[in-house]
Amino acid sequence: MEGIQRIGVYTSGGDAPGMNACVRAVVRTAYAHDLEVVGIRRGYEGMIDSDFVEMTTRSVSNILQKGGTVLKSARSDRFRTPEGRALAAANLTEMGINALVAIGGDGSMRGATLLNQEHGISVVGCPGTIDNDLYGTDETIGYDTAMNTAIENIDRIRDTADAHNRLFLVEVMGRDAGFIALNCGIGGGAELVLIPENQTDLKEVKKQIFGLMSSHARSSIVVVAEGDQLGGAQRIADALKNDAKFDFIDLRVCILGHTQRGGSPTARDRVLASRFGVSAVEALIEGHTNVMVGLVGGEIKMTPMKNVWSRSKSIDYELINLTKMLS
Ligand code: ADP
Repeated sequence: MEGIQRIGVYTSGGDAPGMNACVRAVVRTAYAHDLEVVGIRRGYEGMIDSDFVEMTTRSVSNILQKGGTVLKSARSDRFRTPEGRALAAANLTEMGINALVAIGGDGSMRGATLLNQEHGISVVGCPGTIDNDLYGTDETIGYDTAMNTAIENIDRIRDTADAHNRLFLVEVMGRDAGFIALNCGIGGGAELVLIPENQTDLKEVKKQIFGLMSSHARSSIVVVAEGDQLGGAQRIADALKNDAKFDFIDLRVCILGHTQRGGSPTARDRVLASRFGVSAVEALIEGHTNVMVGLVGGEIKMTPMKNVWSRSKSIDYELINLTKMLS
């Protein structure tokens, strides 16, 4: 590979707390190696619109602790076309950018791979998504914060549920993966956890909930991942409400939704994001491309970008057994 001229950094897809810490680390590491950095606003949309901003070590001061992303994020349909990507690549070349750090989820990594394959731009990815569903890393930027936000909310719900002996169905994020639900279920002491990876049978769920609420006059919390096969917390609540057998239960639904995306990143996310940012720039300098940096067994490792979006990360099935034993 020819040497790096300038590095472009962007955040793309779903935002996640800690992305700013990663941007900061990318910029500061690059400058420590006498390399310039250009921020690309609104991910691939901004690449196509030449929405560029010069980054200096000063411009990333005081962003480490902020949620969201100062570079903004977007989803871009134009980038899904070869014409859109050609325009993006031409804009990057005009700015003297021949290396990129992509911060985002599997879709963003897929887009980065295409830029590399079609236009020869060097790309290194940093995993950023609250869902933690990325192959090639044990943890993603934003996951720890989202999980802690969800648990804090579950604790609050438990207080009111307990006061009234209510059943709460609490929906947490996770369209395709149950990482947040499973861990929040254990950490929040849920009586039942429903995740997309598990076959969920309505009859069985009803049986379990009936058992829970009739055996003891206490509160119960069921944590439901939004992508659960039964269609989320509201659908399950509707099914229970339409069944007279459950009339004795005071049932409520709470969808935590976007509260899980916002907020100041936890210490763990800040450190993780900083490590990823530093490693990504170092990887580019060492001549690596088309890889994502990740945390594997406590160490930073690189995974071919293609594996990141073509393979899926499995949840820890031991944890499912744990939820059953502890409920
Ligand atoms: P995330 O990165 O959080 O998974 P998305 O799946 O929405 O979020 O992907 C972010 C952006 O990456 C998309 O809006 C699109 O511009 C680009 N992208 C995703 N998948 C592809 C693809 N198959 N081909 C080209 N671009 C893609």
